[in-house]
Amino acid sequence: MPTTSAPALLRGGEWLLQPSDADATFTPERTTEEHRLIAQTAKQFVENEVLPVLDRLEQKDWTLSRQLIKRAADLGLLGVDVPDTYGGVGLDKVSSLIVSERMAPSASFGATWGASANLTVIPIYLFGNEAQKKKYLPRLLSGEMVGAYGLSETGSGSDALGARTRAARQPDGSFVLNGEKMWITNGGFADLMVVFAKVDGEQFTAFLVERPYGVKSGKEEHKMGLHGSSTTALIFQDVHVPAENVLGEIGKGHKVAFNVLNFARFKLGAACAGGAYGVIGESAKYAANRRQFGQPIASFGAIKHKIGEMVCRTYAIESLLYRTAGLVDARMAAAEGAAEGAAALAAFEEYAVEASIAKVAGSEALDFVLDENIQIHGGNGYVKDYPAERHFRDARVNRIFEGTNEINRLLIPGMLVRRALKGDLALIPAARALQDELLGPPSMSSSDDALLGEERRAVETFKKVALMVLGVAMQTFGEKLTDQQEVLMHVADIVIDTYSAESAVLRATAASTRRAQRADLHVDAARVFVNDAAMRIDAAARQALAATTEGDTLRTMLAGLRRLLKVTPINTVALRRRLADEAVSRGAYPFAW
Ligand SMILES: Cc1cc2nc3c(=O)[nH]c(=O)nc-3n(C[C@H](O)[C@H](O)[C@H](O)COP(=O)(O)OP(=O)(O)OC[C@H]3O[C@@H](n4cnc5c(N)ncnc54)[C@H](O)[C@@H]3O)c2cc1C
Repeated sequence: MPTTSAPALLRGGEWLLQPSDADATFTPERTTEEHRLIAQTAKQFVENEVLPVLDRLEQKDWTLSRQLIKRAADLGLLGVDVPDTYGGVGLDKVSSLIVSERMAPSASFGATWGASANLTVIPIYLFGNEAQKKKYLPRLLSGEMVGAYGLSETGSGSDALGARTRAARQPDGSFVLNGEKMWITNGGFADLMVVFAKVDGEQFTAFLVERPYGVKSGKEEHKMGLHGSSTTALIFQDVHVPAENVLGEIGKGHKVAFNVLNFARFKLGAACAGGAYGVIGESAKYAANRRQFGQPIASFGAIKHKIGEMVCRTYAIESLLYRTAGLVDARMAAAEGAAEGAAALAAFEEYAVEASIAKVAGSEALDFVLDENIQIHGGNGYVKDYPAERHFRDARVNRIFEGTNEINRLLIPGMLVRRALKGDLALIPAARALQDELLGPPSMSSSDDALLGEERRAVETFKKVALMVLGVAMQTFGEKLTDQQEVLMHVADIVIDTYSAESAVLRATAASTRRAQRADLHVDAARVFVNDAAMRIDAAARQALAATTEGDTLRTMLAGLRRLLKVTPINTVALRRRLADEAVSRGAYPFAW
């Protein structure tokens, strides 16, 4: 297993309470030769073997999907997270992130691959007993079997635990499943399914169900996008499942479902970033070649703004993904003596807030990039001759599956509050200390002339704003805070922008300190992101505070907010232009490697 040099071991969400060290933060610039090799393997596979046959996949040639799964297996792209004992290649989580990024340009096949390699392999690896792992993992990881994950039902999507599929316990210990799962990726041809059902109508439980047990597929859904991936209902009519195919414990299916989602959300964030890298290249090349009014449209400020912003938002997402993968790897490395599966499970649970951030921020940044890509393509963006419209349709579902972005936004402050109340995260003392600071005389903050000094200072104030808004909301609403979804959404937005901004600043700082290639562009991207994040955070905080307090208290809070958030605007026009010009001259995302 390649090791990433260990970042300081902050616990999940702890970055909100203390500064992070740029030197100890994992970034794409710190990837090893082995990371680059796996990146190259995945990239070449997608470019040479998947993209040329996308049209055939879109015509629902599932035999071809199976062949590609086998080929991905031969290249070691299915078993990145699983040790060789079970037929995997056992790489670190940075490699896992890299593979998800690199599979993304073939969105439809990426979904096929993900449903098997992530959503089926991971639950078996994490929750399967030795016999189940030995029986199924080698077959899944060699591509002999294709997997699917059956959680959602017509009446229970976000409310997954409300599933109505039943597993009736039989006298011999086996189960009979009845019910229907909806929108299941690989539903039309998967051989093995992780299926969630309620034992005797009550105990939510995961099962490993082979198709020959009697599972039927519904018709292929007519979707907005991802036409090259199979999505069907799975129908269970008196399907007999042996006793030994319970995955995990009876009544503990929620543990399987939620922990798998922590992994899956992080990887979905990675796939979104991977989609954005390539599309920025498409936009940049198109803008360089398309001429209007006698000049390339890339020379117009309005287009430079778009490309610059696409680069800047993608930079922040990429930075937070690598930072998080570094944290997960370090946590796993520190779990000496723990079995690797148990260490991975604990690490992803620890960084569940960061995984939700990666999912929400990644999917929304990608949709922004794809929307602007269509706009840059003008009429050509709206017709099928160019890939822009396919990308746009394919990506929209990212905000819906693996927990909708609303559910993930609610989870972010929800998990922080839960950890604070359990005493796992010192959020409450930090919020109290901030209150004292705000009641005291203002401190004379001098400007920091060091490179990115102002941005580092700004990020520290973002954290204080997050603490202030969440602290006041907890104090005001107490246990009823969960009813205040609009306030929680604003808090989530502040937390997401804060983690993104800090990740960008840490990476740019490290790039400058280590004199990385074009470190100046790293600095530009981080500065633009922080500048704009300050405005978004200010708006979100005002809305949340006004919905939480009123009268003199609100006025005091707003004065506190003004005192904290003193970020002088910078000339982002010049910086975005530089980022855009670099993308156009390279015909690629400037930080691509
Ligand atoms: C192409 C595709 C592939 C899929 N693949 C799979 C798969 O392989 N396996 C699988 O199990 N599922 C899969 N799904 C299903 C997917 O996970 C669900 O669609 C998703 O979880 C949302 O559930 P839902 O569609 O029932 O929406 P709903 O839960 O009905 O949500 C509708 C809206 O209400 C909001 N909402 C719901 N509850 C709340 C709440 N408590 N507070 C605030 N807002 C709320 C949601 O955010 C959303 O905006 C897939 C879906 C698609 C489209």
